Amino acid sequence: MDIVITAILAFFIHLAPIALKLKLDSLYHLNSSSLITLAAIVLLQMALLALPGKTWRMLATAILLPLILSTILNFLSLAIFASPISLSGVVSILQSNPAEALEFTETYKSRILLTLALSLTLSLSLLYFYWKSRVQTSYRLSAALLAGGLILSIPLLAKAMESPKLAAWDLHEVVYADRLLTSLLRYRGQMIAWNQERARWQNRGDVATGLELKRVDAAKLAPLVIVIIGESTTRNHFGLYGYPRNTTPKLEQMRDDLIVFDDVITPTAHTIPAVMGALCSEKLKAGEINCNAATMIDIARGAGYKVSWISNQTQIGFDDSSIVHLGKSADKAIFVNQDVSSAGEADRNVSLDAKVLAPLKSIIANVEKSGEKNMVFIHLMGAHFTYEKRYPDAQAIFGSSDRIELAEGIKDPEAQSMINHYDNAIAYQDELLAEIFGAVKESSKEAVSLYFSDHGEEVFASKNFHGHSDDNLTPAMSEVPFILSFSDSYRKAHGKDLEILKSYSDRPFITSQLTPSLSNLLGLRYKSLDETKSLFSAAFEPELRKTAKGTYEPKAKPQLGQR
Ligand SMILES: [Zn+2]
Repeated sequence: MDIVITAILAFFIHLAPIALKLKLDSLYHLNSSSLITLAAIVLLQMALLALPGKTWRMLATAILLPLILSTILNFLSLAIFASPISLSGVVSILQSNPAEALEFTETYKSRILLTLALSLTLSLSLLYFYWKSRVQTSYRLSAALLAGGLILSIPLLAKAMESPKLAAWDLHEVVYADRLLTSLLRYRGQMIAWNQERARWQNRGDVATGLELKRVDAAKLAPLVIVIIGESTTRNHFGLYGYPRNTTPKLEQMRDDLIVFDDVITPTAHTIPAVMGALCSEKLKAGEINCNAATMIDIARGAGYKVSWISNQTQIGFDDSSIVHLGKSADKAIFVNQDVSSAGEADRNVSLDAKVLAPLKSIIANVEKSGEKNMVFIHLMGAHFTYEKRYPDAQAIFGSSDRIELAEGIKDPEAQSMINHYDNAIAYQDELLAEIFGAVKESSKEAVSLYFSDHGEEVFASKNFHGHSDDNLTPAMSEVPFILSFSDSYRKAHGKDLEILKSYSDRPFITSQLTPSLSNLLGLRYKSLDETKSLFSAAFEPELRKTAKGTYEPKAKPQLGQR
């Protein structure tokens, strides 16, 4: 009997929340090493609970109680956010005001009550049976369970010997029980950084007034504008840009509907300065992160757009609060990735980008119905390291036996598999982009969509290295995809303009000039807008492109696809 109770308790604390997560989030997936880690945790907890005698039982209960509390809260968090307790969730709750909290409780009242009733009843009865069961447990049983648990821990322990941090990340992803503690511990530090950033945004003053925004060509102000910001995506791995592997079949199919700019770079390989630089009306230097002028969001609102920010990057993470504040300056900010691991290392986490589709589609449907002008910014997780977590296993195209010719001097034994994972992540982006561009194409409203990546990524193209860093900037980190797509209705109304735009697709451009360009594309002008900086203007003048490493010098074309 006892063994059954201990097994049910272990199931309740460790497996049931994971099972609920799998059920609620069709994109969430576990790999075999996660399953082994989970089995090890279950056996270790059962070993503790199988120890005989009252003293052991009291000790075990002392460990069980906080675990059970954490489990109940995990169930609540899953029922509401479809994700376990996370720093993002804790922040959402602790940062809300009483009115918001009341509205929130009203909205989720039945779910909260049902989850609480079920999980409390279950945990109290399990504890009761654990204490009341007559048949004695034994040291032998406990030792057997401990041995099993230890054997299953070997892969994780081996990983910990190599890198304790990586092992801790892996553990955090499946062991939800510790998340309450770790999330609360990190909350304070996060708040200090958060408040500093908030103060900075508030002190920006009334940036919109100084803009002197004008509509100079009202016909160009498309009612639906979608700006997709990719992550760690180099165009050099797009089949569309000449990469020898067919990583972007869907985009290639719709190529005639797209304008594919083939000489766009970003000045920096870091997300915050890259995104802030692209969306600031004042040109920021390569590593600068503070935009003290109007942002593209301010400009869009000034022009009458309702602005939404949909992000699959975490709301809380390293020090990404600048982008979160930028996102929150929109009329509506939706962070679909609540699932940051409690260690805060969002990039280790699984939150596939397809999560942005549901809120995006509801906005598009609303534009069709209401006729309201909407601009939507979508911030993706893209192809950020860890690459194998950026696509569902079922959608892998390149497997371990697929090989690609490596550049001279690339000797890292991991290079082949990293490139395969990266290319699978790109192929997943291809599907996602094709779906968004497809929805834009079919919109009855005049619609424009722009996709670019914050920065690229080095994946063993010219160095024995994968990742991105300004200290170590390589061409693959600077060279990004930059693609425009339109609705058929826009195409009909602006056919001539599109022909002209197409002729601009080989212009040398840097994303720190995106805001004047996009404003110009929409027929807007503001006081400091310099048309010679606009990629989409006849007045465009190429500038010397400065990156964090100095002046960018493109290799002779065709450079794309060569490895
Ligand atoms: Zn980035």
